[in-house]
Formats: sequence, structure tokens, C-alpha cells
Amino acid sequence: MLLGVPIMGIISAEKTGHTNMANRADMFSLFGRMMDDALLQIDHQSVIINANHGAVRLLGEHLMGASLTQRLIYSELMEDLERCVASNEITEFAAIPSNNEYHHIQGKIMPFGNESLLVLLMDMTLQHNLEKMRRDFVANVSHELRSPLTSLIGFVETLQNSPDIEQNMLERFLKIMEEESRRMSRLIDDLMSLSRVEVDEHIAPTGKVFIRTLLTSVIASLNNRAIKTGHVINLDDKRVHISEEPIVRGEVDEITEVFHNLIDNALKYSYSKSIITVEMSDTTSGQIIIDIINRGDGIEERHIPRLTERFYRVDKGRSRQMGGTGLGLAIVKHIVNKHRGQLIITSQLKEVTKFRVMIPYFHTLLSGLRGGDDPA
Ligand code: ADP
Repeated sequence: MLLGVPIMGIISAEKTGHTNMANRADMFSLFGRMMDDALLQIDHQSVIINANHGAVRLLGEHLMGASLTQRLIYSELMEDLERCVASNEITEFAAIPSNNEYHHIQGKIMPFGNESLLVLLMDMTLQHNLEKMRRDFVANVSHELRSPLTSLIGFVETLQNSPDIEQNMLERFLKIMEEESRRMSRLIDDLMSLSRVEVDEHIAPTGKVFIRTLLTSVIASLNNRAIKTGHVINLDDKRVHISEEPIVRGEVDEITEVFHNLIDNALKYSYSKSIITVEMSDTTSGQIIIDIINRGDGIEERHIPRLTERFYRVDKGRSRQMGGTGLGLAIVKHIVNKHRGQLIITSQLKEVTKFRVMIPYFHTLLSGLRGGDDPA
């Protein structure tokens, strides 16, 4: 029972055709309070007679007496109202609230007694944005795959039509074909990584990761590349309890991927023959800080918030030339989030660029102890 009116009473009165205006107001209030979506009662001229909290949330205050045509960007509202009254059937429509043009609404209108109509408005913004993200993602992946594929097909055709091709030309073509195939393979690997980490981002990691050992082995794995470009990669431990091995709760493969991507980027985007520093230190709140510091052209401030978006690159040509997929930092961000950590990027043009990763120490997650204490 609500407002002193039994639910069954309202419904049976409606069925037998004895509903009066008071009953309809009770019904509106009853259903309006039950739903999160916006529910409005309007007259045939679209003037709002009743509105629930969901409607106020979606369309703003002072709805009573206002015209729904003013509150929605929906040019065919009056025609649809007439059609709905004439047919006595539910009419569906799509609209945008006048007070927030970034929202998307799906609506339904149905007659409510002889003089009014019920309007249900569902906020579809999230679904709309997810759908747009999905479409953009598919378009981006197709675009990224198309250029190496087009190049490969072109070379295959050229080779098919040139039986007497010179050896050095053949070798040059094969080298480019190999690079393009590897580019596609890297893209697929990164896409798989991204989708894996996105799926289980909400599952807290369970393993123990010995960070200093892990960083030493990532640096060793990239050392050959560093030597080719004249880079030196230094590991610097500035933690308070330097004699203890720092341990975080995490997945070894994923944390390895984070630092592999970040140090790899430092090699790609820093001045050749410069020093890359990987520096460990502690926060006072039980986290280890790992800074990847390099000197290079740097990143303009306006790009920084977007760097972790999939396929976002400051200089597309440079990234391609370096063999980048544009997915590395998106993967890093998801893994760091999964480990309850933080990623902070700072850069001064032509100076130092720093990618800072902060991850809680293993024992602080277990007992809330300060960082640096014995994790056992
Ligand atoms: P990519 O495969 O293009 O390297 P990432 O997601 O790893 O993709 O990085 C995105 C972009 O961020 C890069 O294209 C580059 O423009 C910029 N970037 C990443 N790391 C650095 C760095 N250490 N210094 C300067 N720019 C960087």
C-alpha cells in the first residue's frame, strides 16, 4: 500500500474503467518512485503535470508546468504525441536533454487516461558511449592492420611479376616484408595482452613479485638494444631499507610487461647515447615508487592525459618508424590499475621525461604496516 491506496485497488479500478484523476496521480507516484528511469505525466500539449526524481535528475529542476518540448531536443514530439493519442499505442523515440547535449535518451510515450500521457525516458548515454568506443576500436584496429597488409600484398605482387629481380633488390623487399609482418604480429600480441588484462582488471593479483630482481632482468633483456643505440640503462635503489628485496603483490608476467613497455619507450623516444635511469624509492604510505627517467624531446603537456588511450600517439610517423603499436601505455595503465597502483607522467620539453609507477608493498596490503618493514 502506498499513500493510503492499495496497489490492487488502483489496478482493478483502472481495469474496470473507474479510474479517476486522483487514482492516476497515485499510480504515477507509485510507479515513479519504484523506477530509476525518468517518468513524466504530460497533457496533450506536452505540459508536464507530474515528474519523478529520475526525471528531475535527467532534465533538471522546475519541471511542473514546463513544456516537455523545451526540455528535450526532439523536434517531432508534438506529432508523436498526436499519433500516440490517435492510435492508443506506445510510441518510441530517441532524444537529447536540452540541459545536457552529451546525453542520449531512449523514450516511450503511452496514453494515460483521456487527458494525459505517460513518458518514460531511459538514459542510454553509457551504452551509446560504449558502442561508440567499440566502433572506434574496430575502425582503429582495421586501419592499423590495413597499412602493413597493403604493403605486403604490394611486394608479393611485385615479386610475382618480376621473375628476374636482382638479388639485392629481392633482399631489400624481403626485409621490408619481414618488418611489416612483424608489425602485424606485435599488434596482435598487444591486442591480446590488452584484452586479457581488461577482462580481469577487477581481480586483485595474488602472487609475490620481487621487484628489484624483476627490474634487473627486464633491463638485461633490453640491454642489447640499448647498446645498439648507445644508451646506458642504470638501476638506482634509493629506498630506505636498501638491503631488503622489495616485494609487491602482483602477477610477475604483468609487472614485467609494464616495465618492459616503459623502458622500451624510454629507449625509443630519448636522445641516442643518453642515460636512462630506473630509480626505486618509497612513499611514506607503504608504496614502492619506480621512476623510468629519460632525456629526449619530451611530451607537450596537452598530450599527457591522452597517452594511455588506445592508439594515441604524439607523433604517429615516429611511433611507426620505431615499430610502435600505440597500445603499450594503454596496457601499462590497465595493469597498474589492477595492482591498485598509480601511473604519473611528467615531462619537460627537450629535458627529462619521467614515467612514475607506484605499487603498494606486499605486506601493506596484508596488514597495513608501513613500507620498508619485513614482508614475511
Ligand atoms: P607506441 O607503440 O607508439 O610507443 P605507447 O602507448 O607505448 O605507444 O606510447 C604512446 C605514445 O606516447 C608514443 O607514441 C609517444 O608519442 C609517447 N611516449 C611514450 N613514452 C615516451 C617517452 N619516454 N618519451 C616521449 N614520448 C613518449
